[in-house]
Parts: sequence; structure tokens; C-alpha cells
Amino acid sequence: MPEPLSTTELLALDREHVWHPYGPMPGRQEPLVVASASGVRLRPAEPVAGRTELVDGMSSWWAAIHGYNHPVLNDAVRGQLERMSHVMFGGLTHEPAVRLAARLVEITPEPLRHVFLADSGSVSVEVAVKMSLQYWRSLGRPAKRRLLTWRGGYHGDTWQPMAVCDPDGGMHHLWSGALPRHVFADAPPAGFDTEPDPAYTARLRELIARHAHDLAAVIVEPVVQGAGGMRFHHPGLLRVLREACDEHEVLLILDEIATGFGRTGALFAADHAGISPDVMCLGKALTGGYLTMAATLCTSRVAEGISSGEVPVLAHGPTFMGNPLAAAVAGASIDLLLSQDWQAEVKRVEAGLREGLAAAAELPGVRDVRVLGAIGVVQLDHEVDMAAATRAAVGEGVWLRPFRDLVYTMPPYVTGDEDVALICAAVRAAARAG
Ligand SMILES: *Cc1c(COP(=O)(O)O)cnc(C)c1O
Repeated sequence: MPEPLSTTELLALDREHVWHPYGPMPGRQEPLVVASASGVRLRPAEPVAGRTELVDGMSSWWAAIHGYNHPVLNDAVRGQLERMSHVMFGGLTHEPAVRLAARLVEITPEPLRHVFLADSGSVSVEVAVKMSLQYWRSLGRPAKRRLLTWRGGYHGDTWQPMAVCDPDGGMHHLWSGALPRHVFADAPPAGFDTEPDPAYTARLRELIARHAHDLAAVIVEPVVQGAGGMRFHHPGLLRVLREACDEHEVLLILDEIATGFGRTGALFAADHAGISPDVMCLGKALTGGYLTMAATLCTSRVAEGISSGEVPVLAHGPTFMGNPLAAAVAGASIDLLLSQDWQAEVKRVEAGLREGLAAAAELPGVRDVRVLGAIGVVQLDHEVDMAAATRAAVGEGVWLRPFRDLVYTMPPYVTGDEDVALICAAVRAAARAG
């Protein structure tokens, strides 16, 4: 083992060489050095604001639903590591990947039946788009190659996903001239409990009908639009999309990368609406936050269409496809989730967030407070001062990562009531400071 670096050395090298998400080079804000993590706590290499531990309010971007250093998940990785960490997936297969695929088919809505294992959420969206375009091409309708989505979405940072992200929000407008031009509907009316506005749904149906001749698929995040703005909408809108897609021969892709595995209170957000997509993307919490893996699921109709076309293969195959370590821990994470009353846990966290964040509505500069499942959002009426907000949260002993006009949390489901209350205090402090 090399000599450990001091925090000062580490930060100097980080600043010199390491590019961080959504940042310039070198970064403007000094990152926090994490030495270890367990349960719902991150341990900084050196105390920050006098604290040796921070309660994690982010689940490492929705992923670590069971918290860190979980004995069951550690065992799954360790056990697999002793057998093999990786083999290629072309011409070879193995138990962790096969078990995982079968399990995913079992727990996702019927009639999803086939699973393509990708190495990140963005890649799983690329695969979903490729599947959709190729499906129509195989059926002799190559003109159907555009996508329709609603505004306010986020589907990842590679090229195809970027093209269906909100065209005004985020940073992707930079590429508006270079990206494929898709069809955008207005953002879905806000509110999980707000019955769909008939005028909005009529416009949505009309837009799908008008573009049906060149639409391959509609792609949306069901119920919760995450990184595009943390907005919730009524599940009935998904039923409208399902009907319109069926009526006009358009595939429906649901991007459940953020919402999958219980985050919204249903195992999959599609379950709130009782619908099934033709293609579904999963990622983030798939491996319990341990390793990078995502999945694109599709129906037999989609698979058979592709596999009977002029090029009867799906030409995609990441080097680390089906990685055994990731597949093993994903299987263990799903089993762990389903072996407990996870719905009660998510409800408990939801109740804690509702109680703890209610007072934020009274703060100056706060526009909206909303909670759904294990997601709590405080929306400001101005761009958040990220450095000040982060500092305020750390001062309360909590790790948060606000963005745009949002201070939000999606804690691990195992977060205890006192820690949920602490996270809420930190969100309030960050909203005041930011
Ligand atoms: C995070 C996210 C992605 C991208 O996943 P990566 O693993 O970051 O590539 C895509 N869609 C949604 C809804 C996401 O939340």
C-alpha cells in the first residue's frame, strides 16, 4: 500500500488533476474529502465545522438506499470477488447477471421481459433510444426516429439523453444546435395530487397524434422529474401517455433511474399509475449505490421486432456489460429491500420529512415545499448560493448538495427518525443561508 496522502496533499492533487461533476478545471469550490462511510454517515478525513461525521441527506445521488458499508451488500461483493470480478459478456454468461435479469423481470411491471445490462444510467437511456428507433426501422418504418418528451426532464449527460433533457434548464442548452431535435410538450402540471388538467392532456394527446408519423417513442421520468427540477406530477398523466402511445403507434419509455426501487413510495413509479412501458430504464439505486450498473428492460414485442429486422441484432455491448460484482450486489440489494417492509420505512421517512420541512414554507425566499416518498424539496425564489447553503448544512452536521433554486434531500430509507429531523433542520438552514 502506498503511504496515505495528507488532506492537504490530496486536495492539492485533486485541484491540479481531477475534474469533478459539472465543474470547471480547476474547481471553484473545495470538495470535502471523505475517508469512509457507514450506515447513514459520511466520515470526513478531517473534522469539518468541528464535526467528525455528517449525516448523508443525498444517498449519493439517489443510489445508497440502504446506507453505506452494509454487511449484506459487503458480503455479496466479497463473495463474488472471490469467484471472479469480471468476465466479458460476449459469448459468456454467469449466475449473478442471469439471476439479476430474471429478478428484474419478476418485480417490474408486466410485460417487460428482456434485460440489457448497461454500465450507467445515461448508457441505459442510449440503449432505450437505440432500441426504439431500431424497432420501427425493423418494421419498415425508418421515418419514426424522433422522440417526444415533456419539458423539465433529465435523462443523463451523454448525447441522446441530453437531447431529451429540458432544453432551457440545466447546462445542455449549450448544445441546442448540435443535438437531435426532438418534440417537447409543456412541463407536466405540478403536484402528485393535482388531477390532470383536461386542457393539458388534450394538448399532449394532440402533439403525439400530430407527430406520430415520425415519433419512435415518448420518453419521460414517471411521477418525479429529478435533476431537471425535482417536480412531481399526477400519475394519471402517465395513463394518458400510455393511451396516446398505443393509439398512435409510438413506444413509451419510462426512465425510472431515479424513481425505481421504492423512492416515491411505490416500487416503481409506473406502479402509481398501474401502467407498463414498452421500455424501462433502471440505474442509481439498482446496486444499492455500490457499483455502477444500469438496465434497459423491454417487452417481447420490442425484442422480436428488433430481432427480425434487416439487421437482426442490437448493436450494443459495453466492455463491462453485466459486470459480476455489480450484478451480485444489485441482486443482494433488491433482496434486502424486498425482505423488509420497505414501504413502511419510506412512509416513515416521508412523514418525518413532511413534519420537518413544513416550517421551511415560512422562510423568506422560499417558493414551495414538497415531499413525496423519501424525497423532500424546498424550492427557493432565487438561485441558491451553493457554497453558503452547503456550509450551513455541514454546520448542522448534514451533507446536502443543493442546485439551481433547490435545496433537497433523498436520504437512505434506513435513516432513523432523529437523523431525518436533523436533515430537515439542515435543509431549513441551507434554505435560509442560500
Ligand atoms: C441520474 C439519471 C440519469 C443518468 O444516469 P447516470 O448513471 O448518471 O448516467 C438518467 N435519468 C435519470 C432520471 C436520472 O436521474
